[in-house]
Amino acid sequence: MGEPTRVAVTGASGYIALHVIAGLLDQGHEVRGTLRDMARGDQIRTALARQTEVSKLSFAQTDLTSDDGWDEAFAGCQYVQHIASPLPAADPKNHDELIIPARDGALRALGAATRAGVERVVMTSSVAAVGQGHEVRDNFTENDWSIETLEIGAYALSKTIAERAAWDFIAGLPDDQSLELVTINPSLVVGPLIDPDGSASIEIVRKFMAREVPGCPRFGISLVDVRDVAAAHIAAMTAPGAAGHRYICSTEFRWMSQIAEQLNTEFGPSGRPVPTRVLPNFAVRLVALFDPTVRRIVPDLEQQRDYDSSALRRDLNWQTRPMDESVRATAESLIELGVV
Ligand code: NAP
Repeated sequence: MGEPTRVAVTGASGYIALHVIAGLLDQGHEVRGTLRDMARGDQIRTALARQTEVSKLSFAQTDLTSDDGWDEAFAGCQYVQHIASPLPAADPKNHDELIIPARDGALRALGAATRAGVERVVMTSSVAAVGQGHEVRDNFTENDWSIETLEIGAYALSKTIAERAAWDFIAGLPDDQSLELVTINPSLVVGPLIDPDGSASIEIVRKFMAREVPGCPRFGISLVDVRDVAAAHIAAMTAPGAAGHRYICSTEFRWMSQIAEQLNTEFGPSGRPVPTRVLPNFAVRLVALFDPTVRRIVPDLEQQRDYDSSALRRDLNWQTRPMDESVRATAESLIELGVV
């Protein structure tokens, strides 16, 4: 843990960002969170105050799609956590709605960080920038990059293009300017919410708990706890050897049926049964014709696409919680916050 300093966190209203901010405040750092809508500030401060001391938290306005406000937001900051990027539950019809804010926002953040004399930027990328467009395997590493084609979907394409643009920006800096970059590439993030406006990534657990799905597709996904993702961001900010690395941040692969069985066993007895029936693939493909959120999973039915986080564990001594604890904590927090 480094000396307390000033850190800017972009997208301070987001699910992951709130955990990163809480962790930074706990360590005594001064945090300047950026928001595109400053009216969200009070709600966020109140949510964070339920778990940490918030007197060192301030807000500044930036939008990924506008040049305004970035220099003021990053002034005096030693580090930037660039976390903001659009993460919709389903891909939009026009892929530029994701690609432009993701890529241009990353370049705006890096440009402003350079002008402000920031030492290091930690940027949230994704495994969506790692393993998409390739034959399915269970051992993707940081050496892998998703293929830049529309077939991988607008979200994965936006994360791949944004991360490549960020590394190209760093490589193109003139010799008299220095800025370090680390990217953290999480798999699907679950775990407790600090604010009820959660990310699209907790939709799987929410839909099971709300019984909005008839059962489980033969689909699985790699998962990671939001608290462990935040810890990785904070460790990457100061670890001497981390600069210049991308780090896959993923705990383990789970089939939907495993998640549903756990939720049903733990929450069913208190009147919250969860559908555990396994759905045939033809039924899932049929629903996907009408539902774009289901369409995203069809290519991966029955496939185990998984990622190797050993570099993060080795270099940053990254430790993870058991995934059962994370799934349970997601459901408990959805109940506590009145979301389900
Ligand atoms: P989230 O809760 O939806 O947060 C997204 C954040 O980005 C919000 O603060 C949002 O602001 C901000 N944002 C979106 N468009 C913006 C724009 N045009 N200008 C300024 N801010 C904008 O999602 P999250 O799960 O915390 O994700 C955060 C980051 O992690 C993203 O980069 C995402 O790609 C990455 N990631 C997430 C997961 C996951 O499973 N959750 C996995 C891998 C990577 P508003 O509140 O104003 O909309």
